[in-house]
This record gives sequence, C-alpha cells and structure tokens, in this order.
Amino acid sequence: MSSRRDEIAAGLAAVEERIVRACTAAGRDRAEVTLVAVTKFFPASDVTILAGLGVRDVGENRAQEAAAKYADLPCRGDLTLHFIGQLQSNKARQVAATADVVHSLDRGRLVAALDRAAGERGRRLGALVQVGLDDASGRGGAGPADAPALADLVADAEHLDLRGVMAVAPLGADPAAAFARLAEVAARIRADHPDATWVSAGMSGDLEEAVSAGATHLRVGTAILGTRPSLG
Ligand SMILES: *Cc1c(COP(=O)(O)O)cnc(C)c1O
Repeated sequence: MSSRRDEIAAGLAAVEERIVRACTAAGRDRAEVTLVAVTKFFPASDVTILAGLGVRDVGENRAQEAAAKYADLPCRGDLTLHFIGQLQSNKARQVAATADVVHSLDRGRLVAALDRAAGERGRRLGALVQVGLDDASGRGGAGPADAPALADLVADAEHLDLRGVMAVAPLGADPAAAFARLAEVAARIRADHPDATWVSAGMSGDLEEAVSAGATHLRVGTAILGTRPSLG
C-alpha cells in the first residue's frame, strides 16, 4: 500500500504536469501561475505533507476549520493561507486572525468588517473581489457590473491590499466563457488599480480553461488530495 505522502506527491505531480501543459498551450510562463492547494476537509497532517513537498500556498473555505487546522501547525510560517469560501461578516475576526489573503469579498459590509478586524489584529490582508458569473448564483460573488466599485472600496480600506479578482465557474456553464468574462472584469479593475494583478480562477475540473484565460492563481483540491471525506 502506498503511503499518504506518495499519494499526495503523485496528485501534486499530475496537477503540475497539467499546469505546465496548459501554460505551454497558452504561451504563458509557468512562473505566472500560483497553485493554491485546497486543504478543506483534509487533516493538518496532509498540510504538513504538502509543505514538505514544497507547496507554499494553501486554501480553506471555512473559518472555523481553518483556524483549528492552522493555528498551531509547525509549518504555518512557511505557508500563505488563502481563505476562499463564502464569508459571513460575523466570521471576519476569525478569518482576519487566521488567513493571509481573502478571495471572497463580495459585498461592502464584508469589506468593512474584514478591514476593521484586520486593524484590531494589527494585520494587513490581501483581498480579492469575488465576481459572480451567473445571474442566479448560489456560489457567491458581486455582479460583474458591481465588482469595480467594490474593488474601489477594498483599495480604500486601511488594512486590506487589493490583489485582484476571484471566481468560480458556474455549474453547467462553459468555463472558458465564464473565465473570459472574469478576465474582462479583471482588466476593468486593473485600469484603475494597476497592482490588482491576481486572477483567481480554475479548480480541479477546469484549470486548463483558467490558465488559457489568464488565471494567475489556481485553487485545486480534489486533483491533489483526492475525493474529500464527507462531513459525516
Ligand atoms: C473547494 C474549492 C475549490 C477546490 O475545488 P476542487 O474541485 O476540489 O479542486 C476551489 N475553489 C473554491 C472556492 C472551493 O470552495
């Protein structure tokens, strides 16, 4: 039986190969793309393995789970922790204390809550505006028309650094078309905020389309760590 380390190393290698191939096809440099390993539902021991394999960016989508898993992790200092899940304002303090970058800012009240919480903690957080790419979005995000104003708000926040935009391709939609739309929103925001260069898009099933559309950050869980254990 192979060890968990071997399994994760194989998953990571397969994903790395897909990224390299997608970059080559798109005429992009591999160094333009950051792989964020999404560790939600998986134990802290898997994070330690990932860190040992050279992973430096990890993602979580639930405030409580992230806090519990990462607070006392010996390798925490080697990692950038990305919060990628839908966020309630009342969890802003926990996330501000735990994460380094928040990908899922989709409304003004949340920007204000996170900014205040980061200030209380004496921290600065990277922040992305999450863009909802379908109209009946159950997956969160500001509408493409509202995203630039929200980006202005993040840029003005004292303790947040606007990094760019994030999206999840709508279920059942063509990811290439969705990511092309995201790229337009990203360009519009970059016109006013030249440092907002991040485009967080692409998961296990659609990372090739995301790379092709200019993604700078891929959030990949299943293809590295396997099928998520159920909540039970
Ligand atoms: C879970 C999650 C991912 C990773 O999804 P996989 O299909 O397992 O790669 C990416 N982005 C967000 C927002 C997620 O919640």
